[in-house]
Amino acid sequence: MVAEPVAGVDYPSTAAQLRRWFPDDEACIEYLARLRWPDGFVCPACSGNGFWRTGPGLWMCATCSRKTSVTAGTLFHRSRTPLSTWFEAIWFVTSSKDGLSAAALQEHLGLVSYETAWAWLRTMRSAMADPEQERLGGGEVQQVEIGEAFLGGVTRDLPGATTLEVPVMIAVERLGPRRLGRLRLETTRYPGSLEALHFAARAVRPEALVATDGAPRFRRLALMGFGHTCVEGYEDPGRGRLLPGPRQVATLLDRWFVGTMRYGVRERHLASYLDEFMFRFDHRTAASRGLPFYRFMVRAANGGPRRREPARPGVR
Ligand SMILES: [Zn+2]
Repeated sequence: MVAEPVAGVDYPSTAAQLRRWFPDDEACIEYLARLRWPDGFVCPACSGNGFWRTGPGLWMCATCSRKTSVTAGTLFHRSRTPLSTWFEAIWFVTSSKDGLSAAALQEHLGLVSYETAWAWLRTMRSAMADPEQERLGGGEVQQVEIGEAFLGGVTRDLPGATTLEVPVMIAVERLGPRRLGRLRLETTRYPGSLEALHFAARAVRPEALVATDGAPRFRRLALMGFGHTCVEGYEDPGRGRLLPGPRQVATLLDRWFVGTMRYGVRERHLASYLDEFMFRFDHRTAASRGLPFYRFMVRAANGGPRRREPARPGVR
């Protein structure tokens, strides 16, 4: 895989180019094959490289004769929707700055049913989870700021639905006085607890400098091998006393939930909404609108929906 994908070479840079590149399923299949086997076909059974093309999207291994569909195990597996329609939908969803509602997707694609649009969004959201989960820190990162915020507007799964305030743990890279880097979010059932330390261990590289409020529980970060700095004046964890980075994230997250996702977010879908938010946040400064499309496609072509499964108590 190329280290730095190039707009117009590795992915389309405009919607018009997208349509020129992917007029039909054949073109989409070739593209998926390139993302899945960047160095040429590899048989998943015997690792052989020889093949015959035996049908649309079908590769047959020349060594063991096993047939592999380029869409097997991907987001598009067994979908009856034309791939070119999927590509169009993915472009629309990944290139929109703030994400969009099922109603907007339905209108854009001219889908008959709202339920279909909603199901597509849900499928796409599942592929936005980062399978690598590379930990924060390193490079130009000055420190990783950690905090907890309460996210409103989430609807309980139980009947007689009431809205919840869900505690969310936030870790975000600080690159400069006004610049943030990548983001990790996890829900927690126990705000203000040692759970935040486990979160730090999952989300942050051990050699990174972690900044927190002055709560005593965070002193253990130093024992865990992190560089740790606590910022004075933020002793009261939780509401309204967040470090600047997590506070900015919490504000954006609130705005996104209330503004873009006007309909209530169900508790059981919360984790995948957070995945979408992280995906968008990490690509917010992308130079080309096509880059998030490309990153999405790489994930989709190499495993499709793959949710990481850390403990997410209370969220199913
Ligand atoms: Zn084989």
